[in-house]
Parts: sequence; structure tokens; C-alpha cells
Amino acid sequence: MATTPLPSVAAITIVRRYPVILETVVAADIERTARTIPVMIPGCYSLIAPDVELWYKGGGMGKIVALGEVVADIYRAGSERPEELPFIARPGGAPANLAAAAARLGSVAAFIGRVGEDLFGNFILHALQACGVDVSGVRRCDPPTRTSIAFVEVSPSGERSFTFYRTSPAADELLSAEDVTRKSLSGASFVTFGSIPLLREPSRSAVRRAVELAEELDVPVAFDVNLRPHLWEGLEEARREILPLLGRARIVKLSDDEIGPLLGTEEPLAAAGRLLEAGVSLAFITLGAAGAFYAAPGFRGSVPAFSVRAVDSTGAGDAFTAAVLDHLSRGPWSEARVREAATRGAAAGALVCTAFGALGALPDAGEVEALISSGAPG
Ligand code: ADP
Repeated sequence: MATTPLPSVAAITIVRRYPVILETVVAADIERTARTIPVMIPGCYSLIAPDVELWYKGGGMGKIVALGEVVADIYRAGSERPEELPFIARPGGAPANLAAAAARLGSVAAFIGRVGEDLFGNFILHALQACGVDVSGVRRCDPPTRTSIAFVEVSPSGERSFTFYRTSPAADELLSAEDVTRKSLSGASFVTFGSIPLLREPSRSAVRRAVELAEELDVPVAFDVNLRPHLWEGLEEARREILPLLGRARIVKLSDDEIGPLLGTEEPLAAAGRLLEAGVSLAFITLGAAGAFYAAPGFRGSVPAFSVRAVDSTGAGDAFTAAVLDHLSRGPWSEARVREAATRGAAAGALVCTAFGALGALPDAGEVEALISSGAPG
């Protein structure tokens, strides 16, 4: 296999540790590989000029740290009696869902956020803990600040609409830079967040602090954007806050309905190209019931969705990202691993669609594997 001489001792170091990457090294020119491999292996650094020099710093599986919003989603529950209106509360908020999904898959997962000193705050903490999430980084806010609650109406066609009940500010909006500590991020495999905390201060600064600390500690940033256009003054403002952060993330996950407003193209391939140009190492674009697309500087591909009896797609994207990060935290980001990660993401996303709420059907690793080996892509 190794017919091309390898001009760099450093590249050989990588090859020894990761035989799977040898093919990439000999197949592509060494300098491009030297630029690509370091961003694809957690914990690996590169120094390109004047000599190509790579070394591997160690790595292994650390925790997945998610920060941002958490709310109580309130769904209608059935009742025949006209004088009753029963409800069921479920934890909601993409980063909290993501942490729960990662923990269920076997990752060490932590959530950083804020809840109120109230019934729903207690409920959210217990629910996340029951999923195996480390909630030691969740701060409580005293009354009159409350945990946000959102009433969710699901139409017969599966469309969701939300009615928020929240104090101003609500607990989750008070996530602050001081909540994101060096201790909470050091040794992590990933730190991940979405765009909701970017809406206003102080949570905007919390995200900035997380990115700065991640860069300092060499923790890869995974930005699962979760654009909510109606929450912004206008698209320009959303783009102004979100776009600069894309280039500071190693992994970006967007869904197909987000690429147009943010990147000005409806084409996943073109959108991924723009992300890679901005410096992103790995781009994932999810396509709902059509699966997902992925791209890195040296390769790209897509995976189909799995065929399931879907009742509610809430949390599908969060589970997708959780499964991707879980898998990528277990080894170097070779093309094969990235594809496996996308496949696991699609399987986890599909399984979450089989029950109401993001945490209603969180799969464990065995259930994801079972769906993959049942070979039921849609
Ligand atoms: P988001 O929730 O961020 O909008 P998607 O709806 O694209 O994300 O879902 C994430 C992933 O979950 C998809 O890439 C797909 O693999 C899977 N998924 C979503 N909806 C379905 C569905 N109805 N059937 C099967 N898989 C689905």
C-alpha cells in the first residue's frame, strides 16, 4: 500500500498510530494531509511551515459538555372530561436534549445552564440526572425568576406550535460567562451549543466564553445551530451573531431549512463547501426524513434515513448530533468513522421520532446498533 515515500517524519508518527489514515496520506499530497489530519483527530496539533510537523497529544474519550437553554415543554394529555385539561411536562431545549441523548448512548455528558428554584426546575434536574447527565454545572435562580415553560400544541399533521410562559428574564436566559468554567471544559471531547443563547446578554457572553476556553484548552467546538428565525429581530441580526461563530467551530450541524437563511444556498453540498471554507473541519447537514449529508476537506457523502413509524420529530436533530459526537469522541476522525457517525446519527434521530418529546424514546447504543444492523434505511 505505501508506495509513495512519506516526506515527513511527523506524518509517519500519525500513520503509526492510525494505520487507517495511511491510505489518505499516500493517496493525497502530504501537505494537504498535514493540514487536514490535525483538524480531524481530537487532540492533534499541526505546525505546517516551514516544515510539516504533526504530533498527537493523546486524547481518548472525555465528556460531552452542552450548554444553553433548558425549558419544561408541556404537552396536552388525553382526557374525556370537559372540566379537565390534563398536561404532561417534558424537559425541552436542544442542548439539554443533546446531553441526555449522549448520556443514553454511553458518553459522559454534562449540561451547563440555569433553572429556577421551582417545581419545573426540580423536575428538569431530576429528569436529566435520570438520563445520566451530570448537572453539577446547572445553577438555580431564585424567585421571582422562574424556569421557562412552553406549551406545545401538535397539529394532526405533526406541526408543532409553542406558547411560552416565562418571567422576564427567565432562568435559562441568565446563563452567564461565569457559569462556564475552565474546570467544566477541561478534558472534554466536545463542547456544544446552539444559537438560542446568542439572542441576548448575558447568555451571548456565556457562549463566547465557552468558545474562548475551548480554544485555549483545545476542546473541539460543535455548533448545532438550531436557528429559530422568529426569535430574532431579523435575519441580518441572526446572521451577524451566528456566522462568525461557525468559523470557530470544528463541527457544524445545520438542518436543510437552516442553510438557506444562514448561508444563502439551498444546496447541502454548496452549504457544506461554505462551512469548510470558513474553517470548519466537519459539516453535517440533516435532511429530515431524507437522511443527512456530511463533508470534510478530503471527503463527503450522505446517509439515508431509517424507516420508522414517526410520530414526533422533536429532538431528532439533537439526537443526531449527540450520536455523531459520541462516535467521533471514540477515535480519530477518519472518513470511515465520520460515515459511521452520520449513520448512527440518522439511526438515533429516527428512533427519537417514534415517541412524543425529545426524551420519550432516547435510544441506547444497543438500540442504535440494532436499527443499523436491521438494515432498514428508508
Ligand atoms: P432537526 O431536528 O435539527 O431539524 P432533522 O429533522 O433533519 O433535524 O432530523 C435529524 C435526523 O433524524 C435526520 O438526518 C434523519 O436521519 C432523522 N430523522 C428525522 N426525521 C425522520 C423521520 N421522519 N424518519 C426517519 N428519520 C428521521
